[in-house]
Formats: sequence, C-alpha cells, structure tokens
Amino acid sequence: MTIDEAPALTGLAERLRAALGPDAVIDDHQRLRTYECDGLAQYRVTPALVVLPADVTGVVAAVRACAEAGVPFVARGSGTGLSGGALPRADGVLIVTSRLRRIIEIDAANQRAVVEPGVINLDITKAAGADGYYYAPDPSSQLICSIGGNVAENSGGAHCLKYGFTTNHVTGVQFVAPDGEVVRLGGKAPDATGYDLLGAIVGSEGTLGVVTEVTVRLVREPEAVRTLLAGFAGVDDAGAATSAIIGAGVVPAAMEMMDALAIEAAEAAVRCGYPDGAGAVLIVELDGPAAEVEAQFAEVERHCRAHGAFEIRIAADDAERASFWRGRKSAFAAVGRISPDYIVQDGVIPRTVLAEVLHRIAELSRETGIRVANVFHAGDGNLHPLVLFDDAVPGEAERAEEVSGAILDLCIQHGGSITGEHGVGSDKAKYMPRMFSDADLDTMQLLRCAFDPGGLANPGKVFPTPRLCGEVPGRHKGAHPLQDAGIAEVF
Ligand SMILES: Cc1cc2nc3c(=O)[nH]c(=O)nc-3n(C[C@H](O)[C@H](O)[C@H](O)COP(=O)(O)OP(=O)(O)OC[C@H]3O[C@@H](n4cnc5c(N)ncnc54)[C@H](O)[C@@H]3O)c2cc1C
Repeated sequence: MTIDEAPALTGLAERLRAALGPDAVIDDHQRLRTYECDGLAQYRVTPALVVLPADVTGVVAAVRACAEAGVPFVARGSGTGLSGGALPRADGVLIVTSRLRRIIEIDAANQRAVVEPGVINLDITKAAGADGYYYAPDPSSQLICSIGGNVAENSGGAHCLKYGFTTNHVTGVQFVAPDGEVVRLGGKAPDATGYDLLGAIVGSEGTLGVVTEVTVRLVREPEAVRTLLAGFAGVDDAGAATSAIIGAGVVPAAMEMMDALAIEAAEAAVRCGYPDGAGAVLIVELDGPAAEVEAQFAEVERHCRAHGAFEIRIAADDAERASFWRGRKSAFAAVGRISPDYIVQDGVIPRTVLAEVLHRIAELSRETGIRVANVFHAGDGNLHPLVLFDDAVPGEAERAEEVSGAILDLCIQHGGSITGEHGVGSDKAKYMPRMFSDADLDTMQLLRCAFDPGGLANPGKVFPTPRLCGEVPGRHKGAHPLQDAGIAEVF
C-alpha cells in the first residue's frame, strides 16, 4: 500500500515533515524497504511512512498526527527483535528511535541511569563503568539492541538467571500514549505507589505507546568473576548437572548449554575450540564477593564431575572467559554456517524436565527429518531450539514451522510458556490461545484498550483475534468484519 492508495495517509507525510523536519520523514519506496522486517526476516511489510524523531516532542507530534488521522503506528528500536514485533504496517507509520540516543544521566550515588530509548544496551554499561557499575540484563544482541526494545520485550540474557530480566531493572519510564499524551510512571525510587502500570508497560511489545525515556538500575561490578566450561557426553548429563548445581542452592550469574549441533555451528563460525567430542557443553559463571565465589565454584566443579563432565576448563583471565563466551554468544548467527535457513524458537520449561523435553525434541527431529540445534539458558529453563531448514526444498519450510509449533506445545504441556524473552510479536500470536483461555485474552485486551482505545499502537501483534476496543469480550459468533476483509485471521 502506498500513500496514494490510503486516504488516511494523505497529507500525513507533509504534516510530519513540517513538525519533525524534512530529514526525519522517509516516504521513498526504496528507502522504506530498509525497515521492512526485524530479526525475523521471514515476515516483510514495507511501511507507508518512516519517521525518525530526535526528541520526545517529535515522538508526540508523530503519535498525535497518527491519532488524528486514524493511522496505525509501530515503534522500532534497532530492529533485532526475533518475533516480528517491529514488523511495520503497510497502512501505517513506523516510528524509529535510533536518533533518541542520549544518556541523560548516570546517577551512581542512586545506582540509576536515565536514558533515551534508542540507547544501545551495552552503551549503558560502558557509560557506568567509570563509576564501577554496569547494566545487568545482557541479551546476546546487546551490542546493537536498544533499551526501548528491551523494555518492550522484557528482554533477558545469559546473566538474568541471577540478576533478573529487564522488568527487574526498570524503575521508571516516560512514554507517549497513543493519543499523544506524555505519561511518566515510576522514577528513581524503587517502588511506585498504586497499580503497577510500569509493570504493564515492560513487556507490552509496543502495544501501549512509545517509550521515550527509561530509568534503569545500575549494579555494582562484582569483586570476583569465575567462569567454567564443562564438556559432557550429551544433554542428559549436562541437564542433570544444571539441576544439581541449582538444587545445591548455588545461583550462578549465568548457566548456558549448547548441544552437539549448536557446538558444530559455533566451531564452524568462530572456532571456539570447545572440548573435542562433546555432545553438550555447559558454561557456568559465578560472580560476587571473592570468598563466596571461591567456595561455590568448588561446588559447581564437583557437581559437573559427578554428572559426567569429561573435561573442565576454568578461565584463567578475561581473554579466556571471552573465548568461552564467544561460541555461545555467536550461536544464533553461527547456525547460518550449517543451514541456509532456520527458525529461532523461544520456549520455557521447568528446569527439572529439561532432559525429557530435549529427548522429545530429538524424537521430533528424527521423525520429521528436520534438524534442531539447541542453545539455551539452562539455569532458567529458557530453550532456544534452532529449527533448521532449506527454503529451496519444497515443503521443508512448512515442516520446520510444524516442528517449531510442536516444540511450543511441548513447553506448554510441561507447564512452561511459549516465550521466555523474545516476545509474542507477529510470530506467536497464533499460539496464544494454546496457552490462554478466551477469558484470559479478553482481560489482556481490556488493559490494552484502556491505554489505546483506538487500537492504533502496533495493532495485529501479540493478540490472535481481530477483537477491537469497544467490543464485548466473549466468544464471537460468525466472522469479524476484519476477517471478511482479509485483514485479520482467527487461529
Ligand atoms: C543475534 C541475536 C541475539 C539475541 N539474543 C537475545 C537474548 O539473549 N535475549 C533476548 O531477550 N533477546 C535477544 N534477541 C532479541 C532482541 O535483540 C531483543 O528482543 C531486543 O530487546 C530488541 O531490541 P530492538 O531495539 O532491536 O527492538 P525492535 O526489534 O526494534 O523492537 C522490538 C519490539 O519493541 C517495540 N519497541 C521498540 N522500541 C520501542 C519503544 N521505544 N517504545 C515502545 N515499543 C518499542 C517494537 O514495536 C517491537 O514490538 C536477540 C536477537 C538477535 C538478532
């Protein structure tokens, strides 16, 4: 759809140029295509317009213009999301935060940083490092993903096992509501009074407004960090070691596992030199006071050996620690070395059923001939099965999609969830009814409608039905008008 084909968009580009400046608005088709997908490149939509505001006033102008014209908008940070959350609308405006990159304040005394949403995750740590602090949630994409995207997805990372997810580190936000109002929730103080609306914003995937400022906790750099790499015959042993370590009361900063296929990919891509013949590797990192780390480290090592680790390496220095992490951190991209196409799945299961679920995934792989590499946050049961396929082989993409869905069913059957950290976005909306009842989904919609009665903020994401604000919750009889128009689908 182009501006000429959508009457609601007529005049919007000119209005936005006048408000934000000519360089801040893109309507040229070729340039718009830069923004047609996020990290989930299977879905592509060219937006009608892209705007790049430089401050909150620009965001307000863009959102208000959309509200007045009844045009949907989608917020986008760095576009690294893996669930199609920042997938544009052909009839809408994409609001990109990459010019909102100011670190407004590092307040070491209060252990807080105040930043604009386009600030890159790792840049907060770089800015706070001089005072001996860092920002703990560390997605593997932390070199490029934005803090606004992290807030919207409630992102995690290897070190969230001990430190918690984004939601545990955000104490305040400023956001632009879908009618253009600027709202502040929380601040530097730890707990705001009243309903936890801040908690609703974190993880809302851009459906409640555009976040324009974030206040985050800073964590003191630990006195000591020790990292261990253990090679096991297979995932059973590595999974048993994981449960034993946590069962013993040790909470590592990070505990990550890779299976044989994931190791093969990482070796091909970055030559990480993991133990020869390993069917699984476990990376365990402990941090904290030196004496505590020393004592717990001995315990970790003991549990790894007791559960069959045939090789254990202990990082002697930062360089060796980085080499242990190189294979893990590059794993998603590395899979491109062994398969032309792949789906990055993200499901959660209770840690105690890790081995059982991994066996079932292996069976699914054998039954369908679709290879699955596993690389995951073992400590908190957050699986990232990488489902490999070749789009050039007829029917293979569809089979990979089926395996991917079956893995999510497994997670639900075992008391887990369809997403641990990558969000629902466009990709998993169809799986929401497998996990939530109609009543659950209606209740979530009521919250969404309270923020966005016009349904303009990132519509079509997260929720599987085309239900709109103002409709009575409950089962619908017959097709919704949006279904008839071919705009929405009920799964
Ligand atoms: C190689 C790789 C590794 C990854 N590893 C991890 C990992 O370890 N852990 C993890 O959790 N994720 C990981 N991800 C996923 C991704 O990096 C995160 O979801 C990240 O938070 C997305 O940030 P972004 O700036 O790229 O957001 P985008 O992709 O641009 O947007 C993501 C969502 O946030 C919304 N959004 C963006 N900015 C705003 C805003 N200012 N206000 C409101 N909504 C907004 C968008 O509408 C969209 O719904 C990985 C991705 C890649 C490609």
